[in-house]
Amino acid sequence: MPKFKVYITRKIPDNGIKMLKAQGYQVKMNPLDRVLTKKELIKNVKGIDALLSLLTDKVDAEVLDAAGKNLKIVANFAVGFDNLDVEAAKKRGVMLTNTPQGSTESVAEHTMGLLLASARRVVEADKFTRAGKYKGWKPFLFIGEDIHDKTLGIIGLGRIGFAVAARAIGFGLKIVYHDVKRNPEFETKYGAQYLEVPELLKQSDFVSLHVPLLPSTRHLISKKEFGQMKKTAYLINTSRGPVIDEKALVTALKKKQIAGAAIDVYEFEPKMAPGLNKLDNIILTPHIASATIETRKKMSEIAATNIIAVLNGQTPIGTLK
Ligand code: NAD
Repeated sequence: MPKFKVYITRKIPDNGIKMLKAQGYQVKMNPLDRVLTKKELIKNVKGIDALLSLLTDKVDAEVLDAAGKNLKIVANFAVGFDNLDVEAAKKRGVMLTNTPQGSTESVAEHTMGLLLASARRVVEADKFTRAGKYKGWKPFLFIGEDIHDKTLGIIGLGRIGFAVAARAIGFGLKIVYHDVKRNPEFETKYGAQYLEVPELLKQSDFVSLHVPLLPSTRHLISKKEFGQMKKTAYLINTSRGPVIDEKALVTALKKKQIAGAAIDVYEFEPKMAPGLNKLDNIILTPHIASATIETRKKMSEIAATNIIAVLNGQTPIGTLK
């Protein structure tokens, strides 16, 4: 049995690493708590059989070629795979996998957290209270919005969009949605209505984005779309930053074209469009929608399971199309 070499680009929970070591693989991991530079990544992947990458690693043709002919799998520790060059991997016969089974529920929970925090101005109110500005109850202090009986527009009804809808129903929201494919079963189950994007934006009090980052979804929400939304609407994004034109978002929030936004992902992550962090009507979280201990462990296990399967000539849990 050959001693397969696996490289992990950054520290992840131990459970997956132990699984790989238990196979007798030679496992190396970036010991630094930072993203590797391209040069470092290229140096470390030489001669490996499997790469466990993170969404912050750009795995392109150059990296795949640096790894060489032994490379059989790149197991991405993420659901999104816009950091991987799918075509280049296909050409070289390298299998790509992700961890979609791991984080759906956690991302849906974070999305609901952002939605509730936006409607009830939780972050602004916390800052105010902490600053010692609370001098007594007032009827209009931090007046927010109810969410029950409001309309949630979900764009991208995949695993996460669906999990968000299931939770939103419990909060009394009405669901409208858009996807490239209609889902009649979902419509029946949740009384949801399928709409084209302009009509969804027109009708929704909350809009939540759950599409993958693809050429067709880049800047899905830009200047024109902000103009189509209600002035009282909130935009939530836990998908990928470039799905929103971030400069246009700053303008829309400044002009109060929409009431607010809550975003976990950024167009040029970790950078932010100028002015975004100066606005009160936005909640910003640092790409943590899937950051729970349970989910990170599941992601570690799934990535390791995929590597073991492929190195043993078996089918991994999930491959990218
Ligand atoms: P999924 O593949 O199950 O669902 C995506 C849905 O989007 C599919 O139903 C697809 O048909 C639809 N879609 C694709 N292109 C579209 C378009 N142009 N217009 C409308 N719909 C379109 O994926 P998922 O597991 O639900 O994850 C969605 C995305 O969430 C991931 O691709 C990833 O980028 C992001 N994500 C973010 C975090 C985070 O930490 N913030 C964590 C996990 C996933």
